[in-house]
Amino acid sequence: MSVDEITPREALRRQRAGARLIDVREPHERAAGMAEGADGIALDELAERAGEALPDAGAEVLLICQTGGRSLRAAQLLAARGYARVASISGGTSRWQAEGLPMTAADAGFDADFHERYDRHLRLPEIGAAGQARLAAARVLLVGAGGLGSPAAYYLAAAGVGTLRLVDDDVVERSNLQRQILHTEARIGVPKVASAAQALAALNPRTRVETVAERATSANIEALLEGVNVAIDGADNFPLRYLLNDACVKLGKPLIYGAVHRFEGQSSVFDTAGRRGEAPCYRCLFPEPPPPEAAPNCAEAGVLGVLPGVIGTIQATEAVKLLLGIGEPLRGRLLHFDALGMRFRQTRLHADPDCPVCAPGRAFPGYIDYAAFCAASA
Ligand SMILES: [Zn+2]
Repeated sequence: MSVDEITPREALRRQRAGARLIDVREPHERAAGMAEGADGIALDELAERAGEALPDAGAEVLLICQTGGRSLRAAQLLAARGYARVASISGGTSRWQAEGLPMTAADAGFDADFHERYDRHLRLPEIGAAGQARLAAARVLLVGAGGLGSPAAYYLAAAGVGTLRLVDDDVVERSNLQRQILHTEARIGVPKVASAAQALAALNPRTRVETVAERATSANIEALLEGVNVAIDGADNFPLRYLLNDACVKLGKPLIYGAVHRFEGQSSVFDTAGRRGEAPCYRCLFPEPPPPEAAPNCAEAGVLGVLPGVIGTIQATEAVKLLLGIGEPLRGRLLHFDALGMRFRQTRLHADPDCPVCAPGRAFPGYIDYAAFCAASA
């Protein structure tokens, strides 16, 4: 069904003549400011209770979202339900604001600190205040506050992710400092999560850091994933990789994988939620872990210090993209990085129709706590 798309300026004219203006974005997006006079009713909510929110099907209704996509869907939905005078505002709140039309003030969270700190994000139309609000509302699980977790946590906190849940049961050792840049000489002997929380608070006090000084196991993995939008595997050890993969498939959470060895690293996004049989999980590649003696990533194996910096930063990039819903995630692709050759290459990954955990229709087989492969974690 086709509906009218109108400019923000035309919408303002009609609103002043008595039309109802409805902002269909989510509450956290509306908190960054709305077109003045708009009522906030999120798209899902509108779909559920249109009759209650808009009892008069003959009244003129104008719909606005961030850039014009959701408002168009909302307008089509209302038109299909017999609302005769609906229109979607082309370009949405972004264009409304860019054209200098009146806005309601943002909530208290969007203070001078917010605008100054995130200025270079706010200048990107793909992020803007609504995207920054989305990051502030996000919670990321980061397992491992070591080589991969350090750059990932730093960049996620700097980017304004609202809550970082950090899980690591190790303490800082001198041999960590060659690559684990969250930690310092002065904090040798301190639990890694406490050291990390101190470093991150110094960088961005707006980010809440939840520290869990425990090993992730089958007993606590689901509680660790509770309320999380994205999980990052920063532990780089096999037992945990399988555990995280299986839990993320079961709970439908995207998992950002990273691994490093000597001078080479790799990363991918395993995101099977709503994509079973189409997007692969880690077990589609490697159904079972290698025997412990063949596992390469023990603490004793060497690694170029900057290498986890590259891979952990790629993981943070993918997390921010997933949280914002922008770009093309590293889903179904395995990215390899060779530091000595300074080369990136990628391999296509396919979902395994016989995957032990993510095959369509497969019942969850239960968690397996693989034996620890090395005495000390990477
Ligand atoms: Zn799979």
